[in-house]
Amino acid sequence: MPLFFVPPESITYPTVSITGPLLRHLRDSLRTTTGQHLLVGDGQCRRYLVEVTTVSKAAMQGRVLHTFERPPLGRPPLLLGQALLKGEKMDWVIQKATELGVSTIVPLMTRHAVVQPKRERVDAQTARWQRIALEAAQQSEQWSVPVVSAPERLSQFLAAAKGSRSFILTERREFGLTLRNVELPTTESERITMAVGPEGGWAGEEVAEAEQAGFQPVSLGPAILRAETAALVAVSIVQFRTGTLG
Ligand code: SAM
Repeated sequence: MPLFFVPPESITYPTVSITGPLLRHLRDSLRTTTGQHLLVGDGQCRRYLVEVTTVSKAAMQGRVLHTFERPPLGRPPLLLGQALLKGEKMDWVIQKATELGVSTIVPLMTRHAVVQPKRERVDAQTARWQRIALEAAQQSEQWSVPVVSAPERLSQFLAAAKGSRSFILTERREFGLTLRNVELPTTESERITMAVGPEGGWAGEEVAEAEQAGFQPVSLGPAILRAETAALVAVSIVQFRTGTLG
């Protein structure tokens, strides 16, 4: 049964009220009618089996038949810091990282980034990224939608990662550690943070600053990957190693 996310405020137990684009999709495209069952998620670790009770132009109402709580993760949540990328690449990283189960995505302002956020567009851009994450989380049937924050300065991001097991992805470190063999935490109470650079790579001082903040430089092997490829390879390796994927 496909999963549909609704805003948590649409659920006043035991009633679920669906409006807006999801209403139109369910009513007009999927021809959902009274008596049918839906699986609805609040994007905050709860799902509901719902029986549709009324359908109108303004809203679809349903009654909760059963509530499901997310089972324990049993692995550390993964936070991805991704330096801002050009055009659709950032959208792509957000979509795919969500499918792969990251818990948080932080767009990073870095020295060699080709794009810098425009102050007047930050709110709209962040809301757009959050929508991309919501759609990807719904499509891949996640229990929760990752939080996509507004772009942060690297220093702010590094400071916020305190207490987490943190890595900065650096290419051309032939003799350094690889993500395949670094030690990773294993419990849900710990956190893994990864930072991936922009198309132009990290500035040397940024890597040094990250190391100072406790980030461990790690490589993905000798190939120089595009930033968006590196992000997804890195997320996949961690999710495989922690048992989320594979
Ligand atoms: N301009 C840089 C150069 O030519 O050396 C390449 C930057 S790379 C396209 C963009 C980002 O992807 C890097 O900052 C790094 O975070 C990540 N990356 C790419 N290949 C990687 C590898 N083999 N190991 C670790 N990180 C990698």
